[in-house]
Amino acid sequence: MEETQKPALKLKRLQEMPVQEKKVLVRVDFNVPLHGGEVSDDSRLRAALPTLKYLMEAKAKIVLISHLGRPKGKPEEKYSLKPVAKALEKILGIPVSFSSDCVGPEAKKAVLALKEGEIVLMENLRFHAGEEKNDPEFAKSLANLGEVFVEDAFGAIHRAHASTVGIPKILPSCVGFLVQKELEFLDRVIGNPARPFVAIIGGAKVSDKLRVLNKLLDRVDTLLIGGGMAYTFLAAQGVSIGKSLLDQEKIADAQAVIDKSYAKKVTCLLPADHVAVSEIKPGVKTSVTQGMAIPEGLIGADIGPHTIEIFLEEIEKAKTIFWNGPMGVFEIPEFSAGSKAIAEAMAKAGKNGAVTIVGGGDSLAVLSESGLSEQMSHCSTGGGASLELLEGKVLPGLSAISS
Ligand code: AMP
Repeated sequence: MEETQKPALKLKRLQEMPVQEKKVLVRVDFNVPLHGGEVSDDSRLRAALPTLKYLMEAKAKIVLISHLGRPKGKPEEKYSLKPVAKALEKILGIPVSFSSDCVGPEAKKAVLALKEGEIVLMENLRFHAGEEKNDPEFAKSLANLGEVFVEDAFGAIHRAHASTVGIPKILPSCVGFLVQKELEFLDRVIGNPARPFVAIIGGAKVSDKLRVLNKLLDRVDTLLIGGGMAYTFLAAQGVSIGKSLLDQEKIADAQAVIDKSYAKKVTCLLPADHVAVSEIKPGVKTSVTQGMAIPEGLIGADIGPHTIEIFLEEIEKAKTIFWNGPMGVFEIPEFSAGSKAIAEAMAKAGKNGAVTIVGGGDSLAVLSESGLSEQMSHCSTGGGASLELLEGKVLPGLSAISS
């Protein structure tokens, strides 16, 4: 289906909103990994700093709300945001107070105690069922905590929850600097990318990525498909895939993507060889296949060296590169070479002037392990949100704010 260009949403930006000395409610995405009660990766906290520092300078009373994990509508210690307040304090170098509930008397008291330029972080929004149900009463209780609302949780704007779509119905609302930056970079990909434009899509779930692959075919010059999802495409092409991951029901859709790539004259490349194993586990004996086919009984766990070579050639020529999803089971070091090679090639292309954009937690984890995050033009904090934007969906959290 040909795409139709949707009209751009008109979004009020933080810099256009009077916030001086006001109580400002900020939806942040502090859904960070915790290990042993400590924040093990603080990139999502750092991503919120431009908005927080701006509000501190404006002497606003800053009330932060966020979710963490999936606690299913009731308090659960392991999903508490308390350690996050400590981590934020360290980064900002000022005290960050913490309220053990995001609504009710405790929350009100914490906001009342705030002085100009001070920050309070509220406990996990998802400790209340009203958040994910988008309960208007819950949204009202949250909105009562501020005079102005700033949406800066890019990773949550594709969800229609009380904190993303309920609050903007009540308070004057705008988008913070992180959301602005995310939209600016993704617009470059959607709008007028420098060419050649190469997209690299990997990961396990074909069903999640089919729509975005279809959309990308309207925009890219080259599409590189890797990871577990590539096997459904190879199966569609009649290639033997052994015991590799397969989504039988999506074979026809995968073939339709390949057909569309021919029609659009987009170069669509599948893995040409693989790292094959009898079982996906650390320390297992690995072999590299001679070609696209995987011998019976074996599983493709990563793209092979020949594929890396072919994919890297395309990345080297590119002027815009978008990457989402690992090329193999990168969590196990033996199967991480493909994803690491993509990360390194993107960093190199970036040094040579290409715009490099990475979305999705797994791809970001590969970058951060390789120490290459800083070398990308943009690392998106919202894998799901960035894919939905690329699919051309109108995101609920953005339409709620648009005027
Ligand atoms: P997704 O959530 O669809 O982006 O998939 C991410 C997951 O895909 C990661 O946990 C990887 O371990 C997994 N993955 C990547 N390549 C393969 C593969 N060849 N076989 C099985 N799983 C894979």
